[in-house]
Amino acid sequence: MINLSIRALSELLQQKQISIQELCGVYHDRCQSFNVNTNALISICAELSAAELLQAQQQLDAGELLAGVPLVHKDLFCTQGIKTTCGSNMLADFKPPYDATAVTQLAAAGMVNLGKANMDEFAMGSSNEHSAFGVVKNPWDSQRVPGGSSGGSAAAVAARMVPVATGTDTGGSIRQPAAFCGITGIKPSYGRVSRHGMVAFASSLDQAGVLAVSADDCGLVLSQMCGHDPLDSTSLKTSTWQWDKPKDSNMQGLRVGVPHAWIDALQDEGIKNKTTEAIEYFKQQGASIIDIELPHADLAVSAYYVLAPAECSSNLSRFDGVRFGHQTNAAENLEALYRKSRSEGFGEEVKKRIMIGAWALSAGYYDAYYLKAQKVRRLISEDFNKAFESVDVIASPVSPELPFKLGEKADGVSMYEADKFTIPASLAGLPCLSMPIGFTAGLPVGLQLIGRYFDEQNILALADKYQLDHDHHMQIPEAFL
Ligand code: GLN
Repeated sequence: MINLSIRALSELLQQKQISIQELCGVYHDRCQSFNVNTNALISICAELSAAELLQAQQQLDAGELLAGVPLVHKDLFCTQGIKTTCGSNMLADFKPPYDATAVTQLAAAGMVNLGKANMDEFAMGSSNEHSAFGVVKNPWDSQRVPGGSSGGSAAAVAARMVPVATGTDTGGSIRQPAAFCGITGIKPSYGRVSRHGMVAFASSLDQAGVLAVSADDCGLVLSQMCGHDPLDSTSLKTSTWQWDKPKDSNMQGLRVGVPHAWIDALQDEGIKNKTTEAIEYFKQQGASIIDIELPHADLAVSAYYVLAPAECSSNLSRFDGVRFGHQTNAAENLEALYRKSRSEGFGEEVKKRIMIGAWALSAGYYDAYYLKAQKVRRLISEDFNKAFESVDVIASPVSPELPFKLGEKADGVSMYEADKFTIPASLAGLPCLSMPIGFTAGLPVGLQLIGRYFDEQNILALADKYQLDHDHHMQIPEAFL
């Protein structure tokens, strides 16, 4: 049962072959037993909420497809009365008084929350090693990282502790952990899903999305999260969207753009071969493969690591021990209260980024760094616009590397460099996903699909068609069968 699609689970529930309590109970048990090995979850709900179960039953009776399907939320989505730590000591005891809009929408459809997923502190990182609640282990190899920052969400789905999890992606935090854990993950277009109730990292880039087994599951859950929210001023009026599952795997007429320079630059032969094979499959199914260029994409990592820290230094200023967050008990005056609360509450990576960001925004350096980075961002966006004049979808690697060993990338910069294929689409606000395309050296490899703005349908449809003929996404690591 643990490998069934959402549609299949829903059918079991509709036909009363299993009750919502039983289904959620199976996954709740798995969360409890497998969290010991993975550390994927920061909190596991002690018991299923009676109110949620009632809502789930009502929705099931009304024929809602997602009703009764369990999930976990990345621990930066506010959940009323449930600890929301953001992976940080700063928020170790924070119990929000309200739910994030995405959480409300999924609960309204009758999805049942089983807990909160581990993550890099304030979503900063690509390995989940920056969590104040311990590292998450990759279910495929416990010596390796699950990716980040939504590493807990990805590991929980890969180990089938839940069929689906929410995540957020600022520069790759859904796609890269999905690739590292052998599952499917989508980051929608910026403005598609409300950011209300998501603890902010870099507001102009943060987007909520879904990690699940298949593209179809991602599409079903994402459809429910979309929609205009007056509580988020960047949520678009036209953001309502409904996933339409294609009927067959025909790709006739589809133009798939491939930045060949990215593939040529891959040093890992295994990743290169898998990527080439997947693209070859699209061709066999009738798609035309078109070589594209994204001339400014090489500058994306540098621009991002100015912009994201700049925004985080501003967003995180609210955590001062008075308005929000951990308060020191060793302060002799107000100045010391701020300083010590922040020093104690934030981890090393977060502090580093706050300092870089504050510096990049300071009067003397603003033009040289922040403004320049904004200009680069625009150029990257224009590269994509140009490419999309002649293609419908772009296919590329997700990560230049396989899941790294725990501790392997202790120096920050080589970890930053590993984001080079995911950051460009984030800077341009485009919808993008990662889907599993096979294994090399026993580790999963992902393929990234990037769509035109608001074209979640085409990237999910392409992934769904691929998954009709392949079963990489159905693989479960042996220890979690
Ligand atoms: N790895 C990137 C970073 O560290 C992206 C994180 C994210 O998307 N939240 O900032």
